[in-house]
Amino acid sequence: MKVLVYSATPYTRDMLDRASKGTKHRLDYSDATLTELTAPLAQGYEAICCFVDDDVNTLVLYQLASYGVKLILLRCTGSNNVNLEVAKETGITVMRVASYSPHSVAEFTVAMMLTLNRKLHRSYNRVKEGNFLLDGLLGFDLNGKTVGIIGTGKIGSVLAHILTGFGCKILSYDLMESTYCRTIGVKYVSLSELLQQSNIVSLHLPLTPDTFHLINKDTLALMQDNAILINTSRGAIVNTADLISVLKQRRLSGVGLDVYEEESELYYHDLRDQIIDDDTFARLISFPNVLVTGHQAFFTREALDDIAETTIKNLTDYEAGVYSSNTVTQEQKIEQQIPASREGEAL
Ligand code: NAD
Repeated sequence: MKVLVYSATPYTRDMLDRASKGTKHRLDYSDATLTELTAPLAQGYEAICCFVDDDVNTLVLYQLASYGVKLILLRCTGSNNVNLEVAKETGITVMRVASYSPHSVAEFTVAMMLTLNRKLHRSYNRVKEGNFLLDGLLGFDLNGKTVGIIGTGKIGSVLAHILTGFGCKILSYDLMESTYCRTIGVKYVSLSELLQQSNIVSLHLPLTPDTFHLINKDTLALMQDNAILINTSRGAIVNTADLISVLKQRRLSGVGLDVYEEESELYYHDLRDQIIDDDTFARLISFPNVLVTGHQAFFTREALDDIAETTIKNLTDYEAGVYSSNTVTQEQKIEQQIPASREGEAL
């Protein structure tokens, strides 16, 4: 099948070329991010392949359908950037990578926690300038501290497992309690209890209408003054304006953000020679206790191989008319938000 791959970085090309070797699929690559302006590039293709910041909105879907595009392959787990209702209406199938190495994101989250707590981002710069003072670099032992994990699905469960090794006490909040997490000693509590009692809070939820701005001025007010907040999920789970107000009040000792509400204009682009217009982002990165990374938590060799192999398998399954649980529908998305038992699950 002929596929146009949007947002194709050099590593995207490498991973998909490797995974599609020996198949009859033809993959063409474009650096462009998918928008109304770049949708016409898909003329002549039956399928397109997108990433997190490609904007698959109503207008784009109508454009794609008019060019004969039948399939959208997402190289990610989240489908929040696709209007699934309109995809269905236009007869376009959407497939995603339901899971790939959850260790990639969980381990990156731990890296953010340790960096913020032990101020490694600051000591790295200090030493380069010949400043060996320790003032301002004081951290705390993770051992014995309480970490609140919001969302104990694939990534949250791995994170809980890693943090028990540090001797942390884990509190969690999720619509569906994980049997695995309970067996390793995770205690499920209400969201407000978790926010009040945790030294570190980490978000591992999908972006849905229910989780949009879940972290806002009211929920931030419940957190301890010197707590650390980490978001490696989706930017819009946190209300950035509210977060900035809290930081300006000298509350929260550290904030780690791998994702940002308006990241699509910035992330995965080299903007070194440009002036960034986004004042909110500029304010955010100005705080010494805020660590911002450009949506890189997934970026390990293992995760990329999983993503590429599943993407090519999705394409092959679609072409062969084989049912795939990686097909995403609006109905499925709603069902995923209904609590259900997780008895018998494995990590
Ligand atoms: P998952 O589906 O395995 O787990 C998500 C958990 O959130 C589930 O246990 C679910 O019950 C819970 N949940 C959903 N809605 C909820 C709500 N309203 N209240 C409480 N709990 C709720 O997903 P995962 O694989 O662990 O990934 C989590 C998120 O991480 C993804 O949705 C994605 O946004 C993000 N992610 C980020 C990166 C990155 O590179 N930064 C990479 C992969 C995934």
